[in-house]
Amino acid sequence: MIPNENYKNLKDSYLFYNISCKINDYLAAHKGARLYRMGIGDVSLPLCDAVIKALHEAVDDQSKKEKFHGYMPECGDPELRRTISEYYRSRNTDISADEVFVSSGASDELGDIMDIFGNYKTAMIMEPAYPAYVDANIMTGNEIIRLSAGKENGFLPMPNEIPDGRTADIIYICSPNNPTGAVFTREQLKSWVDYANKIDAVIIFDAAYEAFIEDDTLPHSIFEIEGTRDCAIEICSLSKTAGFTGTRCGYTVIPRTLYRGGMNMHDMWVRNRTTKTNGVSYIIQKGAAAVFTPEGQEQIHKNIDVYKKNAAMLTEAFDKLGIWYCGGKNAPYIWLKCPNDMGSWEFFDYLLEKIQVIGTPGAGFGSCGEGYFRFSTFGSPDDTREAAKRILELFSK
Ligand SMILES: *Cc1c(COP(=O)(O)O)cnc(C)c1O
Repeated sequence: MIPNENYKNLKDSYLFYNISCKINDYLAAHKGARLYRMGIGDVSLPLCDAVIKALHEAVDDQSKKEKFHGYMPECGDPELRRTISEYYRSRNTDISADEVFVSSGASDELGDIMDIFGNYKTAMIMEPAYPAYVDANIMTGNEIIRLSAGKENGFLPMPNEIPDGRTADIIYICSPNNPTGAVFTREQLKSWVDYANKIDAVIIFDAAYEAFIEDDTLPHSIFEIEGTRDCAIEICSLSKTAGFTGTRCGYTVIPRTLYRGGMNMHDMWVRNRTTKTNGVSYIIQKGAAAVFTPEGQEQIHKNIDVYKKNAAMLTEAFDKLGIWYCGGKNAPYIWLKCPNDMGSWEFFDYLLEKIQVIGTPGAGFGSCGEGYFRFSTFGSPDDTREAAKRILELFSK
C-alpha cells in the first residue's frame, strides 16, 4: 500500500508556530508582560442574539417527538437554501435555491471541491494567499502557478500579468482578500471572468469577507459579474461575517449551467455531497437561518462595525505616519509596508520587543509578502486603541 505521496510535498506551516514560539520566549523573559494581539484571524465577539435564540429553539425541537429532526438533506435544509438564494436576490443576483449548498464551512469546501476537478490540474493562486489554497492543491498533486501581487498593482493582480504561455484549469480569487484586505472592482473581476471563459478555466471565488464590503460599487459575489454562470464556483462562510468560526456553517454556490468536459459540475457536487456527507446539523442550520433575518442582519452588522472602528483606529495611525497600506476598509485586515524597509519578521520582533504589539508577518503568506505585515481588526477595541497609540508613538520619534 502506498499512501498519497503528494503529502511529502507539503511544507510545514511555520507561520503561526513561529509566532507562538516568539511570544512564549518573550513572556518567559518578561514575566507578566501585557501583549496587544493584532494578529488573530479569528473573531472575538460572541454570536448575536437572533442566532443564539434560534439555536436554543432548535435544541428544544430535538427534545420533542413531533419536532425532532434526524438526518438532514445532504445539500442543505431546503428552507435555508431558499433563504440564501433570496439573500443573493436582494443584491439582484439570480441564484436558485438548488444552486446553494449548505456546508460546515469554507475550509471544508475549499478542500472537498477538489474532488470534482479530478487530479493533475493546474491551479493559479494569487499570492500573498490564504495558505489553504496552496496546501489543498499540493495534496491533490496539482501543479501550482503563483501569480505575485505587489504594491504596484495594489495587491490586485490582473490576467495581463500572467507569464506568457502559462494557463490554468482552476483560478482562485479571494475578494475581499485575506491577508491583504484588497478588493477587486466589478471591472477587474469582469477581466478575470472573461479570461477564465477564454481559457476554459473555473474560478473558485472565496467570498468569506463579503459582508465587510461597505462601498456599494464593489461586488460581494462573483455572480454579480456577467458571464459567470459558466465559469465560477463561490465559497462562502458565516465564520467571519456572523462569528461562526466555532459553530461551523457556510455555503457554496455552483450554477446548474457549469459544465466542463460535457459533465455538469453542479450535478457532480450533488452526487459528491450525497455520498460524502450526511448534511449539516439541524441545530446549526437553524442558527444560520437566523443570520439572514432582518434582526440577524442588523445584529451581525453591529458586530462588524466594532471591527471597522478598530480598523479606523489603526489606519488613522498609519495615515499620520505616512505608512503605506491597503485594506482596512471593506475588509477586516490591514496590509502594510513595514516601515524603514524592515523585513516581515524583523518588524514582528521590533514591535514585540519595543511596544508588545503582535501582528502577522506578510512573508508567511507567500514570498512576495516579504517586507509586509498583516494587522487584524478582530481584537478588542481597548487593545486596538492602545496598539494604535503605541505604534504612533514608536514611529513618531
Ligand atoms: C477564515 C477564512 C476561511 C475559513 O472559513 P471557515 O468557514 O471558518 O472554514 C476561508 N477563506 C478565507 C479567505 C478565510 O480567511
